[in-house]
Amino acid sequence: MTQTLKTKVLIIGAGTGGYVAGIRCGQLGLDTVLVDGGDGLGGTCLNVGCIPSKAIIHAAGKFETVARAAGGGTLGITAAAPAIDLKQTVEWKDGIVRKLNGGVAALLKKARVKVIKGWANFEDAKTCVVKTDDGEVRITAEHVILATGSEPVELPFLPFGGDVISSTEALSLSEVPKKLVVVGGGYIGLELGIAYRKLGAEVAIVEMAERILPLYDKALTDPVAKWLEKHGVELHLGARAGGFGGGRLNVTTMDGEPLQLEADKVLVTVGRRPRTQGWGLENMGVAMAGPFVKIDQRCATSMKNVWAVGDLTGEPMLAHKGSAQGEMVAEIIAGHDRVFDPVTIAAVCFTEPEIVSAGLGPNDVEGRDDVIQSVFPFAAIGRALAIEAGEDGGFVRVIASKADHRILGLQAVGQHVSELSNSFAQMLEMGAVLEDVAGTIHVHPTLGEAFHEASLRALGHAIHI
Ligand SMILES: Cc1cc2nc3c(=O)[nH]c(=O)nc-3n(C[C@H](O)[C@H](O)[C@H](O)COP(=O)(O)OP(=O)(O)OC[C@H]3O[C@@H](n4cnc5c(N)ncnc54)[C@H](O)[C@@H]3O)c2cc1C
Repeated sequence: MTQTLKTKVLIIGAGTGGYVAGIRCGQLGLDTVLVDGGDGLGGTCLNVGCIPSKAIIHAAGKFETVARAAGGGTLGITAAAPAIDLKQTVEWKDGIVRKLNGGVAALLKKARVKVIKGWANFEDAKTCVVKTDDGEVRITAEHVILATGSEPVELPFLPFGGDVISSTEALSLSEVPKKLVVVGGGYIGLELGIAYRKLGAEVAIVEMAERILPLYDKALTDPVAKWLEKHGVELHLGARAGGFGGGRLNVTTMDGEPLQLEADKVLVTVGRRPRTQGWGLENMGVAMAGPFVKIDQRCATSMKNVWAVGDLTGEPMLAHKGSAQGEMVAEIIAGHDRVFDPVTIAAVCFTEPEIVSAGLGPNDVEGRDDVIQSVFPFAAIGRALAIEAGEDGGFVRVIASKADHRILGLQAVGQHVSELSNSFAQMLEMGAVLEDVAGTIHVHPTLGEAFHEASLRALGHAIHI
């Protein structure tokens, strides 16, 4: 028998977009139902994305530190060669994921959001049927928030299965592959490729563009390229991957030459696409913008009271964008006057070293003579040297308007610079000028001093260079 439910707000997808929308709806007293068909609340980010990847990256960093100590010793510390039982590492990572799944469930419960586990299929814009373990539930709602997220892009000649894996499987391998080929040199492929290199795999990266992380400017990505070179990661740039068989991946090099790369696993990370199929989106009368659901500045779709947030709505496909949109949509439904108009959505690559970018970059201001660009190297920052983070070519860059010194963009590359990302976003969001950063007493010794010095340098009076 089909159970029927009526609710004020129906949310499909419990990723960072959907579950945050759910919690905020609950806080605002809106009767809310959240449906998710995945294995655990939290969506891609929590289960097979941001969190598990950073756990594996962390474990790989620990392994590398011990391996370095064993290979000749650093800082006067020596150690025996490390060994890894990747199954145990993955169990540890899964434990973190389970803890966070439980945390999201508790927060939704506290906000009085009704959670239904199952796959939703829409019959029309405001009605969906959810197949649950206990039968079907038909839900009608006044407002619908679509937050179905995204999934890895599969290459037709390299379908997922067996030794051809996506990031999802790469986060749960039972042993470190001897030879790993990563197809796609974007941030997901590089983060995982670097982690597996640290864990001892021989890693090759095949990238169609002429450099890694092509969405970032070259100066920012050079320290990462240097790390890859120093650590023996084979880079095949301007190269195309082909089929895989008999433990070999066919590649066509930049010069059109055929090449075969040996691989125990081929990790395909050529992008993610919005999850728009298989759940009745076509029955909702919602307009599309290319592959994404079209939204306006309030995350409203073309259908009245149908909203969409997160990866489903376009780039940047980042967790914090989805959660900010989800929070806003809940407030709009509750009657608040809101638009989604951030000055910046900072992006971080958790590579080695890390990269942060917020606001305008050098490519955006190329040829303009009304801006100042100033760079300060971590090599001149005491804290960076004291934590072995000063010798990889890292820096902080400030881009500001010449006329009024308004900060337009901030970037950094270096170890641990992800921690500077929020301070960058805050400065941009608050419309800071160079004098605001220069006049803020920065704690010593910290990596953030490089931001202070870059701003001072833009004003013509850096102290430590
Ligand atoms: C390896 C990896 C690392 C990443 N690292 C970062 C990072 O460091 N920082 C960052 O900001 N972003 C990162 N991301 C991206 C981030 O995970 C996504 O931007 C984010 O998860 C998008 O959230 P979302 O709510 O839009 O969708 P998702 O998290 O994809 O959630 C969608 C949910 O909807 C459910 N669903 C879909 N259709 C239906 C249906 N019909 N019925 C019921 N349920 C349905 C799915 O089961 C899923 O749980 C990473 C991604 C990957 C893959």
